[in-house]
Amino acid sequence: MKLSEEMKNKTLLSFELFPPKTEKGLQNLPGTIDHLMKYNPSYISCTYGAGGGNVGANREVCQMIKNAGTTPVTHFTVIKNTKEGIKEQLDQYLADGVDHMLALRGDIPLGETTTCGDFDYATDLVKFVRDTYGDKFEIAVAGSPEGHISCRSLESDIAVLKQKQDNGADYIMTQLCWDMEQFKYWLDAIRCAGITMPVDVGIMPILDQAATINMALSRNACVMPRELCEIISKNWIFPNPFVQDPFDADVEGKKARFKEAGIEYTIRQIDEYRACGIDGIHLYALNKWKDVSEIIDRSGLRTLV
Ligand code: FAD
Repeated sequence: MKLSEEMKNKTLLSFELFPPKTEKGLQNLPGTIDHLMKYNPSYISCTYGAGGGNVGANREVCQMIKNAGTTPVTHFTVIKNTKEGIKEQLDQYLADGVDHMLALRGDIPLGETTTCGDFDYATDLVKFVRDTYGDKFEIAVAGSPEGHISCRSLESDIAVLKQKQDNGADYIMTQLCWDMEQFKYWLDAIRCAGITMPVDVGIMPILDQAATINMALSRNACVMPRELCEIISKNWIFPNPFVQDPFDADVEGKKARFKEAGIEYTIRQIDEYRACGIDGIHLYALNKWKDVSEIIDRSGLRTLV
């Protein structure tokens, strides 16, 4: 059964992994996946480096996911990809038995103003995949509850999401959003716009100060609620969390307290999302099974599976 069909019956739990950059990281990944498999995820997705730089590792990770016994979903972007190149890669995924994808535009490369490929937007990719492959792929698309960083307006971004549905997309995976009022507004707005696709909510566990700030601000302009800012401020590593050798005398203590408060915050966020009637929880597992397991066990998400 398609994941989008399953989501109509129950809230799904899934994870996101990235291809490790080192050989050792790649060797450790099957163990990480085995740990995550005890939660019986409906699927595990794997990120795709913009420009296809890590496509070999991505395919390897998809095979690990498949071998572990769940559905691999590959992310896929149009950055620096020609139509022929896209077809070649998608044929290869199908030959590998990977027939679920998250169809993305990808971030415009630094210093460029275009995708440097044949397609401009994710809508083009969705249309191309449907026209070329019919129903062979199940297609997820990105949705941004706060509006994508370069959209003209939230309304124009929602119109783009409707276009993705009209072009044949099956369900939505959302961008990180901590602003729950904004999320509820967006959920109502997309339904009013005629978007009926299931909404699978992307949640990034809050475990590390620098990574949290980076994820929120380096590309996405995510609003940080006061409560999250307090967790960051109370545990601030001086002079700042980005330097290699901070002069703060309590680095380890602050890291540990930040992580504990971040896990509690993530759990409360999961509760709030579940109370909104969303269709799936997609945890960015960041290849860290121990922390993710703690979040699932303590939040009661186990009851989903
Ligand atoms: P689009 O939907 O194409 O939108 C991009 C911008 O263009 C938006 O502002 C939109 O409003 C506007 N737009 C779209 N269509 C039109 C149109 N026809 N006319 C005018 N404006 C238009 N990136 C990676 O490189 N690798 C990954 O693995 C990856 N995984 C991700 C997973 C999730 C769950 C999410 C939410 C994002 C992920 N990203 C990843 C990031 C994503 O590639 C970026 O957010 C990228 O900048 C936009 O991709 P998109 O598919 O949302 O683009």
